[in-house]
Amino acid sequence: MILDDIKQLNETIAKRIGEVNDLQKLEEFRLEFLVKKGKMQQLVDRLKDVEKELKPVVGKELNILKSKVEKQFNELRENLQNKAESSSNIDLTLPGRRSFKGAVHPVMQTLNKMVEIFADMGFSVAEGPDIEDGFHNFDSLNFPPDHPARDMQDTFFMKSPDELVLRTHTSPVQIRVMQNSELPIRAIMPGRVYRNEAISARALAEFYQIEGLYVDKNVTLAELKSTLITFAKRMYGENSAFRFRPSFFPFTEPSAELDISCYICGGKGCRICKHTGWLEIAGCGMVHPNVLRSGGIDPDIYSGYAFGFGIDRVTLLRTGLDDIRLLYENDVRILKQL
Ligand SMILES: [Zn+2]
Repeated sequence: MILDDIKQLNETIAKRIGEVNDLQKLEEFRLEFLVKKGKMQQLVDRLKDVEKELKPVVGKELNILKSKVEKQFNELRENLQNKAESSSNIDLTLPGRRSFKGAVHPVMQTLNKMVEIFADMGFSVAEGPDIEDGFHNFDSLNFPPDHPARDMQDTFFMKSPDELVLRTHTSPVQIRVMQNSELPIRAIMPGRVYRNEAISARALAEFYQIEGLYVDKNVTLAELKSTLITFAKRMYGENSAFRFRPSFFPFTEPSAELDISCYICGGKGCRICKHTGWLEIAGCGMVHPNVLRSGGIDPDIYSGYAFGFGIDRVTLLRTGLDDIRLLYENDVRILKQL
């Protein structure tokens, strides 16, 4: 009976069209049902053999089914074509787009790490002006009037009646801290300093230092040594070896320099450590009584220690660069590797 066959085809088509999920399956569907010799037309062709009274009913059913299937087919074709077009715009062979992020400059990375370690050890951070007067930069720090640092060739003097200079070290901040703080004092003083030097692979006219100061009753050299070694082990690794060498600075007495076993060659000797196995990392000593007096502190009651690191030198060692100028040329190809 043709009405049953129409119903049957309706169900078959509904099932088959639900399975179509790409243009190739859609084409297979079209060839099976919608072409001239397809299953839809085969039913339509049988209409001529249907009894006269039934023809309007069967014809109507066939039209409903035919238009329904054609509508579904056209909608599905449009959807699948849109999908194919949008996915063809994506070239899966293209490399991914990376977002380039900025980073902290290597010198600042070193500085931040040093500040973090000293902060853990109870040191607060103090800062002072880059332009200093002669008192804070020299006199208060026990520099004699004929000290070579006062020579025009070592220091940038400002044209002014007050002998203003671009500070040659961060030590003047020590005086300012002593003048303005309650005792005991435990502070570090990072900052930029200036020297009138010829620029080379090992020297710049401006660079960074970090200075430390501890003033209290009965401060000893042993405390200075243990503080610096505790710091250096965290900064450079537990297995590093250290040695203190006697030295001279106007503002400390006694004075010493701290060396670390070369962590490039492990102490065997290499180009970086000039084949000595040691690298100089800090100057230090017990604060000179004259310096305590300059800061308004009685050296008969209080004592203290001070130390200073060159941050750029430490950064060179940390990064393995052999030319200090590379740190300031800001060539992104170099900075990206550090
Ligand atoms: Zn070495």
